[in-house]
Amino acid sequence: MDGEIFAAAKRFFRKAADVLYPARCPVCEKLIPLGKYICDECNSTFEYKNCETNISGFPLYYVCEYNDVSQKIVLGAKNDWDGDKLDFMAKAVCDMLTEYGLRDNVDAVIPVPISKKSRMERGYNQTEKIAGKISELSGLKVIKAVKKIKNTAQQKQLGRSDRLKNLNGAFAVNEYCDIKGKTVLLLDDVCTTGATFIHTANVLMNAGCAGVVCVCFARAVLSFEDGDSKDKEYADT
Ligand SMILES: [Zn+2]
Repeated sequence: MDGEIFAAAKRFFRKAADVLYPARCPVCEKLIPLGKYICDECNSTFEYKNCETNISGFPLYYVCEYNDVSQKIVLGAKNDWDGDKLDFMAKAVCDMLTEYGLRDNVDAVIPVPISKKSRMERGYNQTEKIAGKISELSGLKVIKAVKKIKNTAQQKQLGRSDRLKNLNGAFAVNEYCDIKGKTVLLLDDVCTTGATFIHTANVLMNAGCAGVVCVCFARAVLSFEDGDSKDKEYADT
């Protein structure tokens, strides 16, 4: 009974919050009706790719390429804790999971961590926020199974080979997490070289995961010779 009252109260406060804080389109920032995640106009021009590829043997799914539009969404979510942008990213990832039938074939979603220092500076990990919303929408459990144990140089300042080396020993599994034998979605907001995905996925496999499926919102297509990447605004990939 307490649970029902709690659930009803939660629904009530969510509705009240919707009235007090109406949603805005993550692209043009116009007000949008309740229950929508993007306005019709921006939705019709948003370049959904919903692509499947792979990265060092791990499957990788991404919603869109990292361009001027998705960059605005990603950076707003990352630097300004913009809930509309976070919600849109989560919804778009969920729709892609449904399209590929992934929702029913994985056991949990694991957000890629940031270092303690980054968390102190930013106050939150945007990927955890997206994972939380994905959980609300899909029912998938979130497990914060990986931690970043080393402060690393900003990836954006490095070339491809240095990015891979830079993350050596940067991630570890939280021992108390039950991930043995589980197939997990490893979530990040943006994937550039894939260095972060490769390192965290390997840490999870070494800890006994049955499989790791990498999923991100935007994939940055690189044209770099070492050290000259297009993702200059983005640090952590
Ligand atoms: Zn719009």
